[in-house]
Amino acid sequence: MLAELSAKLCAQIQGAATILRTAQRVCILTGAGVSAESGIPTFRDKQTGLWAHYNAEDLASIDGFAREPELVWAWYQWRRELVHDKTPNPAHYALARWQEHITLSHSAQQLTLITQNVDDLHEQAGSTVTHLHGHLNRNRCSQCDTPYNAPIVSTAHQVDFGVALLNCDHCGSYIRPDIVWFGEALPVDAWQTAEDAAANCDVFISIGTSSMVYPAAGLAHLAQQNGATLIEINPNPTSNTVVDITLAAAAGVVMPALLQGIITSSPPSKD
Ligand code: NAD
Ligand code: ZN
Repeated sequence: MLAELSAKLCAQIQGAATILRTAQRVCILTGAGVSAESGIPTFRDKQTGLWAHYNAEDLASIDGFAREPELVWAWYQWRRELVHDKTPNPAHYALARWQEHITLSHSAQQLTLITQNVDDLHEQAGSTVTHLHGHLNRNRCSQCDTPYNAPIVSTAHQVDFGVALLNCDHCGSYIRPDIVWFGEALPVDAWQTAEDAAANCDVFISIGTSSMVYPAAGLAHLAQQNGATLIEINPNPTSNTVVDITLAAAAGVVMPALLQGIITSSPPSKD
């Protein structure tokens, strides 16, 4: 399985797996990069086609929605269309198998999985996950917060995402995606779970995040201040300055190899 990895990366994965085998508490934060191999572009990738001339921050903000609700709604419908047929990749499956292994083997290890992603690929793979930035497939009222649960109209072979703005049944205001936009507070319960897990973990693993967006990016610092070992899985350099072990390759390649090293009693070998 590790034949495609360099000897250096194999050794680094082995080192990380050795630490993780005996860790009592592990906190994992994922970002857009974990879904990249499923075909969902990350935020740092250039926007293409129709949306190439728009700034993501303008589309994903309360001011943007107040200014041009039709535009923001249409962008989210486009993103929903982009994401709806995407499926988990080996990184999502490896994380789910790790959680399953802990349950089935009655291990004392505690693993908390936190994501900044608004897709549901962790859930599709079978994971239990805390979402810090909301859910792409949910809507709520922009004024009274009432969830908007009407199903997306679908025909036999196609999902109709429609771009017309919807109105709240209670107050008539516009319906918005249930997503945390720039400048908005994170959901209290989700943030509490993330803070507790980061502050109390032995190992913090950051997967596929540029570590540029706070407060999520601050979780690694919180873990480090409390003595955790920090592991980063990302093929590119990031803004995270507190990493102990960098596994510089795609999550879909690293995670299955790392899992193999964690759940087998012998370390992974290059065969
Ligand atoms: P990001 O796009 O900033 O970073 C993605 C990271 O994934 C990069 O560091 C990249 O090197 C890495 N990566 C790419 N392919 C990978 C792979 N195969 N395996 C591992 N890593 C890979 O995404 P982010 O860090 O998740 O962004 C943080 C948050 O910022 C987002 O959750 C979002 O809430 C917010 N944000 C939103 C918007 C928006 O909604 N339009 C725009 C910008 C940021
Ligand atoms: Zn309302």
